Amino acid sequence: MPNKKIKIGVLGVGHLGQHHVKHLKNIEYINLIGIFDINFIQASKIALKYNTKAFKSMSTLIKEADALSIVTPTDTHSQIAKKCLTLNKHVFIEKPITDTLKDADKVIKLADKKNLVVQVGHIERVNPALLALKPYDVKPKFIEIQRLAPYSIRGTEVPVVLDKMIHDIDILLSIVNSPVKDIQANGISIITDSIDIAHARIKFQNNTVASITSSRIAKEDIRKVKLFQRDLYCTIDLLLGLTEIYRIKDKTQSKSSIQAPFNYKGKKKIITYEKPTLKNIDPLKMELINFANSIIGTEEPIVTGKNGRDALEIAIKINKLILEDTL
Ligand code: NAD
Repeated sequence: MPNKKIKIGVLGVGHLGQHHVKHLKNIEYINLIGIFDINFIQASKIALKYNTKAFKSMSTLIKEADALSIVTPTDTHSQIAKKCLTLNKHVFIEKPITDTLKDADKVIKLADKKNLVVQVGHIERVNPALLALKPYDVKPKFIEIQRLAPYSIRGTEVPVVLDKMIHDIDILLSIVNSPVKDIQANGISIITDSIDIAHARIKFQNNTVASITSSRIAKEDIRKVKLFQRDLYCTIDLLLGLTEIYRIKDKTQSKSSIQAPFNYKGKKKIITYEKPTLKNIDPLKMELINFANSIIGTEEPIVTGKNGRDALEIAIKINKLILEDTL
């Protein structure tokens, strides 16, 4: 634990920002010094609820803090992040890092030059349902991901690919250890002026193929990942927190209590079923603890600025392909 608490401020305390406030209040070696929101009524309400100070000026809060959580709409991330970094402050930027690659590069370059931490809030990386895969040798050859959500005005400042699909692009990049070889994509606008439903087929150089669908015009929330490889099928419900693994083994190999026998080409095989117990952690709190530890230097950010930029690069490519396809 550091000698001095890290002074942190939260910029933007809407739907997600208030959860940053809640967790930062409860991390031992963090001193939440206050919050800022362009909507001062909202800032005052959250400040009262969590017993912190609502600043009237963003610049004053930035100057008084060592680090900032940026939880404002995506199209404001780069401007705010650059302001913080210029004043030598570490930043946790909610996903996506920025809405253009040029801005993401500027943010990363500025942070590198000043030796400051930039962490990006790709929260699914610490979703316990995904972390449960760690003990397994997961090298999928086919991946299917679905992320559907009912319409909300929040996030519509960017296309669905940059708001929702980017979570899954980041998941893919963390699972498939190979560069992207080819992308095909299509989608449509339904309510907003940008793409609301998108599908992409991403082929990696190691021949892994991923099919990802994202929608912000759905009846209910669904966030599911399915991974397929030789002798293994895994299904993950990111929303419910459920990971189920089916493996094919020779009959003699298995210790699993749940198994189904079958014959293939004269050999006796079994399908085993495993449901790993998930860690009881709050992913947002874990990200913020990781941010604090990265500032102290005892950990590396789970999702670096470069990781955020890589996911953004693919998201922008997908959105561009969709727009070209719909012309
Ligand atoms: P929101 O609209 O609920 O909240 C944004 C807040 O920022 C509002 O209170 C607004 O008044 C304030 N704001 C707007 N412009 C500002 C500015 N220039 N300076 C200070 N405050 C400003 O949005 P949200 O859903 O909380 O999303 C915020 C960010 O978090 C977005 O980038 C979004 O992509 C991201 N997000 C990430 C996840 C995740 O799973 N990691 C989930 C939801 C949102």
